[in-house]
Amino acid sequence: MSSTALALPQDDTVTPMMRQYLEIKGSHPDALLFYRMGDFYELFFEDAVTAAAALDIALTRRGRHLNEEIPMCGVPHHSSEAYLTKLIRLGHKVAICEQMENPAEAKKRGYKAVVRREVVRIITPGTLTEENILEAKHHNYLLALIPGEKVTGISWVDISTGHLKTQLIPSPQLGTYLSQIDPKEILLPDTRAADHHFLQTHKAWALKFTPQPSSKFNLKNTEKNLLHVFGVQTLDAFGSFSTEEITACGALVAYLELTQKGQMPRLAPPQRILSQDILEIDAATRRNLELTQTLSGNLKGTLLSVLDRTLTSGGGRLLYEHITCPLRDIARIQKRQDRIAFFLEHPALKDALRHHLKAIPDLRRALCRLVIDRGRPRDLAAVRDALHESSKIRDHFDSILHLAPPAFQPIINDLGCHETLIDTLTRALCPSLPALMREGGIIAEGFAPDLDHMRQLRDESHQHIARLQGQYIQETGVPSLKIKHNNVLGFFIEVTPLHASKIGEPFIHRQTLAGAVRFTTTDLADLEAKISKAGEQALAIELGLIEKLIETICQNARAIEKTADSLDTLDVAASFADLAASRNYVRPIVDNSFNFNITGGRHPVVETLNTSTPFVANDCDLNPDHQNLWLITGPNMGGKSTFLRQNALIALMAHIGSYVPATSVHIGLIDKLYSRVGAADDLAQGRSTFMVEMVETAAILNQATARSFVILDEIGRGTATYDGLSLAWATIEHLHNLTHCRGLFATHYHELTELTDTLKHLGCHTVQVKEWKGDVIFLYTIAPGSADRSYGIHVAKLAGLPESVIDRAETLLKDLEVSNKTARPICAPLPLFDHAVRNTETPTHPVVDTLKSLDPNTLSPLDALHQLIKLKGMV
Ligand code: ATP
Repeated sequence: MSSTALALPQDDTVTPMMRQYLEIKGSHPDALLFYRMGDFYELFFEDAVTAAAALDIALTRRGRHLNEEIPMCGVPHHSSEAYLTKLIRLGHKVAICEQMENPAEAKKRGYKAVVRREVVRIITPGTLTEENILEAKHHNYLLALIPGEKVTGISWVDISTGHLKTQLIPSPQLGTYLSQIDPKEILLPDTRAADHHFLQTHKAWALKFTPQPSSKFNLKNTEKNLLHVFGVQTLDAFGSFSTEEITACGALVAYLELTQKGQMPRLAPPQRILSQDILEIDAATRRNLELTQTLSGNLKGTLLSVLDRTLTSGGGRLLYEHITCPLRDIARIQKRQDRIAFFLEHPALKDALRHHLKAIPDLRRALCRLVIDRGRPRDLAAVRDALHESSKIRDHFDSILHLAPPAFQPIINDLGCHETLIDTLTRALCPSLPALMREGGIIAEGFAPDLDHMRQLRDESHQHIARLQGQYIQETGVPSLKIKHNNVLGFFIEVTPLHASKIGEPFIHRQTLAGAVRFTTTDLADLEAKISKAGEQALAIELGLIEKLIETICQNARAIEKTADSLDTLDVAASFADLAASRNYVRPIVDNSFNFNITGGRHPVVETLNTSTPFVANDCDLNPDHQNLWLITGPNMGGKSTFLRQNALIALMAHIGSYVPATSVHIGLIDKLYSRVGAADDLAQGRSTFMVEMVETAAILNQATARSFVILDEIGRGTATYDGLSLAWATIEHLHNLTHCRGLFATHYHELTELTDTLKHLGCHTVQVKEWKGDVIFLYTIAPGSADRSYGIHVAKLAGLPESVIDRAETLLKDLEVSNKTARPICAPLPLFDHAVRNTETPTHPVVDTLKSLDPNTLSPLDALHQLIKLKGMV
């Protein structure tokens, strides 16, 4: 049935329930409506068709609407989370519509009255809080953006942790920041979402867009919203935000109000990120360096997989942010290094800390769920356990804190002192907890005397039931008589049909089944009433106590958040220290110089791979006074790409505050890091191999500065040899003559080595090999000089190409080498760069030339008119 069928007719042709459904659905057109009916969530019309296909459940029909059958499907309420997870992962939004009263209450309004229903929450990919759906070591960001021509305001929030950030970024760099933050959902004005050019530019993110009416991005309203949510008169207390950031942040808050239906999550005050504090890494570089995902989409083999030795979810999330968002702030980098150094000096402290961290649950997410009233019993236990372990960690630091660098003091202070809360929670919670709050069984015996009293009444009644059963067995002489319970009859007495004739007064018949006859008595009914009353009262008292516990936690929320932040920081520092100690990393010097001096550098990921060849360390020394660019030539499989990447990764690790795999490192701050590999298709973006290569190279040439670090791996290989060679040539000249950045350039165009004759800051290095008895041995050492061969055919042989092809290729290669020697050298200086400079003079339009040739003083009015007509014709 088409969505137009969801129009609500004005007459009586729809049932009251369907009318209610259509009205609610009308307010939530872009979400799948989970409409609660008893124990099920039902979906109708298009929603049912979509959900049935996505969830692989049966699509049925129920009644008719406008003469067509209504498609329907449903999921049980008690197991809905698994279905929701699947739908959200597929990118759907789901509106949860609950019954707000029971059918008996509705009936009081009239026989035909429909149970009142309301949407209590809209679940979207960017507004998740559920433990089962979220990735433990990954933030789940919802981002809003206000794109302007020059600058764009962005703000992003993870409501499962409460982190809220804003940043003002240059509009052309939006893609870079989106790839850094990796939001799960993006809010933007609907006008922008409909803008073809914008959509084309950000096609990779289009599936995550949730367009919002432009009115939601009105500065005045959004600012008011923010002031209200944070309960302040002015946002100045949190920092000085641009209007674009305020608008984006306010739009986020408005969306949370809309989707959380008034249950506002706990948000930390917005933190303003300054672009100049962050090392910029664009999407292509992130991909190429395989920071958090390999090119094939896995975690194994990434930098993250090697660096992550964190033991808590919060620590894992912080480490992820460190890797995706390295610093450009020397003081902050050094603080991180100081923490690692301290742990390396005190390994016992580090081990003790890590022992406690292992037992720490996800404190921030548990807290956020409790605050937003979605907490489960295990969230209460998570707060108790995390605070308990944190207090033990604090104890370990007490005796040694005076030796710690200043970078430790605030962190240890922020662990706080939660003894009263820990004590309350420890006394309050049962040792083993149920999955849900509503069933009780959470508060421990001895915590509240009135609860104990009521539970005793309830449990004693159970003993009465057992006693009554014994009494009835004696009275009737039926040893198999049982008192049982179900939800329909409540308590009842059951005998087999064989013994039914023995049951008379005071037993009252209730039900006869094939294998059983059921009775009740007035005594049993009285007892049941008592049990149920005591049970209800016990549950009510228990729920009241739980509410109070949650209230106390909420009152301490700010202090608990600080504890969580401290634990995350300690976890990351100890993780780095553990890694540094076991892998022999060193503390890099990061300063304001333009050095790039790495001795004995290793690739952090490749060196961990279990291969038969031990990793060969290499040096790299770039600096503007001598050589700021290195051209690396060498055989296929020689280790060029590995060398390029290891230097980029070491530089990046130095900027996240980690120790690095080398024997010594001195790096001057880097503002932007670029990594490009020739030839990689991006068919999803509609770009060919070579186009991608050129778009990515263009971004570097246009944006890199003297502070940037660039690695270019075989740029120009995606086109014909001469085109590719010329482009590679011109690119090096540009980086050398104009950008002056530090960089490494790997190539198989051996002709490029001639550039060292003209470019004085370009050095040639080569990966060494040894030829032995017709075989090639890879040495993996980088040394000054250049290669004259690529040994491609040798590698092809290793790869198993048929012998006939190898033989033929060798013959062809010899022929080509002979003919090449007799031809004009390919690269007798290719004056591409000169050409570009020479051509910077803009050619003038013929109208301008004609105008220049005219002398108004000598023209008659008629001539002037003729000239005017001529000029107009030329235009
Ligand atoms: P091509 O030109 O064919 O792209 P390449 O010169 O870029 O090759 P890499 O891909 O860097 O070569 O390296 C090939 C393999 O050599 C790597 O997968 C790695 O296993 C090994 N290797 C590279 N560098 C080293 C090293 N320093 N020590 C030990 N093994 C290395």
